[in-house]
Amino acid sequence: MKTAMQQPAPPECRQACDRMQDYLDQTLPKRESLAVFLHVRECGACRVQLETLQALYARLGEMPPIEAPADFDARILAAVPYENYRAMAPLRSPRVPVLLEQESLPAWLRSRSVRLVGLFAAAAALTAAASGVAAGTAAWTVAGVGCLPELSVRLQNLTRRVYVATVHRSIPR
Ligand SMILES: [Zn+2]
Repeated sequence: MKTAMQQPAPPECRQACDRMQDYLDQTLPKRESLAVFLHVRECGACRVQLETLQALYARLGEMPPIEAPADFDARILAAVPYENYRAMAPLRSPRVPVLLEQESLPAWLRSRSVRLVGLFAAAAALTAAASGVAAGTAAWTVAGVGCLPELSVRLQNLTRRVYVATVHRSIPR
């Protein structure tokens, strides 16, 4: 066994070893499973390895579940250096789909002045339409376009908050 281990393993042995865990879990496709079975039947070194793994899994399966001590959480929390934890805050911030990142909207659209000007234009257009100065459809078009920057930013914020609340509820912030 020792001398066999010192030589580089033949490719079919390496392949069998790579698949051994899946073979034991019975998650391999039939053809690959059969290949491992046939190889192990012929190859002593791989058979020993398979039997070792089998024995190990059997013992792991027999082990009683381990109960964590009652104060386990408290002891872990007490051991955490809180300053370091705080310093890692940016890393903990929940990840959201790219479309929900603020940066996915163009900067000009997000700029406060563009959003304000848009809202003012919308308000002006609606006022003009109400007082009969401007045609209805034109006014509504201006109002719609004017509201767009503000609406898209708000809609994105809202969607992101809903996403974070539902997907990342368990992550402390
Ligand atoms: Zn082998």
